[in-house]
Amino acid sequence: MSVEKLIFEKSSAGRRAATFPVLDVPAIDFLPKESRRASALGLPEVSEQDLVRHYTRLSQRNIGIDTQFYPLGSCTMKYNPKVNEDMAARDGFRNIHPYQPDSTVQGALEVLYDMEHWLAEVSGMDAITLQPTAGAQGELTALLVAKAYHDSKGRKPRKVLVPDSSHGTNPASASYCGYIVETVKSLPDGTVDLEDLKPRITEDVACLMMTNPNTVGIFEKDIPTIATWLHAVDAQLYYDGANLNAICGVARPGDMGCDMMHFNVHKTFSTPHGGGGPGSGPIGVKKHLLPFMPVPRVTRQDGHYALDYSQPQSIGRIRTFYGNFGIIVRGLVYLKSFGGDGMAEIGKQAVLNANYLLALLKDTFHSPYGDRCMHEFVLSLTDFKKKNDVSALDVAKRLADYGYHAPTVYFPLIVPEAIMIEPVETESKETLDAFAETLKKIMLEDPAVLHAAPVNTPVGRLDEVGAARNPIVRWQP
Ligand SMILES: *Cc1c(COP(=O)(O)O)cnc(C)c1O
Repeated sequence: MSVEKLIFEKSSAGRRAATFPVLDVPAIDFLPKESRRASALGLPEVSEQDLVRHYTRLSQRNIGIDTQFYPLGSCTMKYNPKVNEDMAARDGFRNIHPYQPDSTVQGALEVLYDMEHWLAEVSGMDAITLQPTAGAQGELTALLVAKAYHDSKGRKPRKVLVPDSSHGTNPASASYCGYIVETVKSLPDGTVDLEDLKPRITEDVACLMMTNPNTVGIFEKDIPTIATWLHAVDAQLYYDGANLNAICGVARPGDMGCDMMHFNVHKTFSTPHGGGGPGSGPIGVKKHLLPFMPVPRVTRQDGHYALDYSQPQSIGRIRTFYGNFGIIVRGLVYLKSFGGDGMAEIGKQAVLNANYLLALLKDTFHSPYGDRCMHEFVLSLTDFKKKNDVSALDVAKRLADYGYHAPTVYFPLIVPEAIMIEPVETESKETLDAFAETLKKIMLEDPAVLHAAPVNTPVGRLDEVGAARNPIVRWQP
């Protein structure tokens, strides 16, 4: 692929994307002299056509969900239906302001209200807030809610328990919230080790954070038992719902005994993510935690929607306004277009696709957690590493040469040389077959080819440490 020069390097003095007629009214010098720029700004000067081509070409030098298969384990990269975009772009949603009086934004408030009720129905929780704008922020919100709950009872537990397979944001949120993080071991089958967990559940535990299906793609079948243990000491059970895609419409965290959870609208409900956002990480809680939820709460009375700030025990605001409204609109459109009955198809199809792909790959790769999974599975490349010095990273890089986005690698940390694959429900059998064939083919290639990969991409293997430590983010004339 040819090198794309920077837009600055394409600049030619005097070239314009738009030209205006000569000014035929007196120019007004309203800026004081000392505030005026002394020299030109140094912006690139290009024609409109060059401008369009430049950015269109740049947009094609990437691997994205609209062009390629994107089996990123744990992060649920699913297709974003374009009807979501259509709805979010409607005037009544796009051109409103959060400071408008309630009476002029009834439709927007109805969207928030409806979304809360859809999420409550999907999860079995009693109340939802849409304010957090990432899963991690949802975790923090829920832990603050739990803290306020314990405070209200005059209790000061200091610990949060987190399984060793958990997403890094779990211990990070707990620690940010001021808790001591204690790690719980998992069993060889990937589920939480109950013998290790039980003695850790004491009066000093505020909360246990569990991901289900867990990070290695296995369903945690002991959640109801764990919930009983925790509730005996009034500790809360947090459900990391980032992997809700697997059970959507089939099982509900609220019915399993969980007290609070977060959703990743940008994963489970098909809104765009990657590259940092914009996200939406609502949380759901059971009744006893409702008084501590962030304000404002969206209310409905006699068909009129309003925002209620009068919650004396609330933790307050966690974010400006009501969260990422445009993302919530997209998520609601997705939920409504499937409807209650359609939801179950999402989870079942996602699990079927993952199991199909695992079946295609399990004879070539070591699958540490057996030959059944939920919505995602983890393979380990330690054998290849020992034999040929081929690592998970080499394989991930080589996949880019074949036009695939790499799966998640080196996560979860408990699996050496991990490759974590989540195909999601929208991919066809043909796509899954072709991907499996490519992976198997890569493993037969000369290790030297893999070490050099990628070679068909705009840039080859990057010095990632250098890029992180010494980034050059500004063009110097
Ligand atoms: C993605 C993810 C999170 C964090 O969500 P963000 O929106 O990225 O902050 C937490 N837990 C799990 C299991 C996840 O996959």
